[in-house]
Amino acid sequence: MIPGLPHASHYMQLPREVLIGTDVAPLVGETLTRLGFHGPALVVTGEKVLSLAGDTVLDSFKKHGINTETMTVQSSTTEEVVRVENRVREMNPDIVVGLGGGKDIDVAKLGSMKAGRTFLSVPTTASHDGIASPLVSMKGLDRPYSYVAHSPIAIVADTSIIGKSPYRLIAAGCGDVVAKYTAVRDWKLAHRIKNEYYGDYAAELALMSSRVVMKNPTSIRAMSDSGVRTLVEALISCGVAMSIAGTSRPCSGAEHLFSHSLTMVAPKPALHGEQCGVGTIMCAYLHGANWQLIKDFLQKIGAPTTAKELGIEPQYILKALTMAHSIRPERYTILGESGLTKDAALRVATITSVVE
Ligand SMILES: [Zn+2]
Repeated sequence: MIPGLPHASHYMQLPREVLIGTDVAPLVGETLTRLGFHGPALVVTGEKVLSLAGDTVLDSFKKHGINTETMTVQSSTTEEVVRVENRVREMNPDIVVGLGGGKDIDVAKLGSMKAGRTFLSVPTTASHDGIASPLVSMKGLDRPYSYVAHSPIAIVADTSIIGKSPYRLIAAGCGDVVAKYTAVRDWKLAHRIKNEYYGDYAAELALMSSRVVMKNPTSIRAMSDSGVRTLVEALISCGVAMSIAGTSRPCSGAEHLFSHSLTMVAPKPALHGEQCGVGTIMCAYLHGANWQLIKDFLQKIGAPTTAKELGIEPQYILKALTMAHSIRPERYTILGESGLTKDAALRVATITSVVE
């Protein structure tokens, strides 16, 4: 984010405010005013979201005299980011508000950063940790993984809106949170073997998120208010862990490399968090950690734990396992530098019953 930092220093960009709870969406306008943003605001959102939560949020702007313009995005592609960036340059808003799911927030986050504007996140789903992190994942970038953009100045997470999203998205969010179980192990490994920077605090924060979520499968599955809140807080903490680390390391290891590879090779990929969850089971096995614990939790949550449940043919799972190490070679993980052989991939996938 800042070029030319001195050696052995890094930058932490954190959200200044997080507002979380039931019925907080009507407070977006008030939050902006309190933070010193008086508009105009550019709201980047999706069509569906706009019909679900748009009125509530837009009314809150009106109430505080903030002029707004709304633009809807279709997908998280570089074209959409350029469209947002250009609109920001033309309109010159005080702030960009990302309202919606992962795609809407990612496009708003990257578009605002490229145009040099502050960004506020209003997530309406809890399917992955991008809702609060400084990272984005885009289709059509040179390499298929997340990279650092900027943190939202504030996050307004209305759990009553998030609690009405499809349960599949909530279950996927749990998959993205349990991924920290292996991501932190990979980070430690890279520290020991490659002398990579490792920060205990960020690592513990990411692990704590996965521990808390794994303790609460029943309330999350029931989509009770406390369950949804537990998951959203965990995802926000993961975002903060990445902000503190200045890298996605605490939240993204070999299980994410597997998921990114699967997205590249599978004709019909599943959701990011669903794929990461299955990746975590297999990577936990490779680490000699308790993979059964991860599998049990995902089963309790109702998230996929097998190729079949992901709706992906076993051949693509095996292909993704063998190529995962190569898509981001500088990210050292349990997959090592040469990756898994076909035999090893088949073994890990069979032992963990991901593939029959
Ligand atoms: Zn993720």
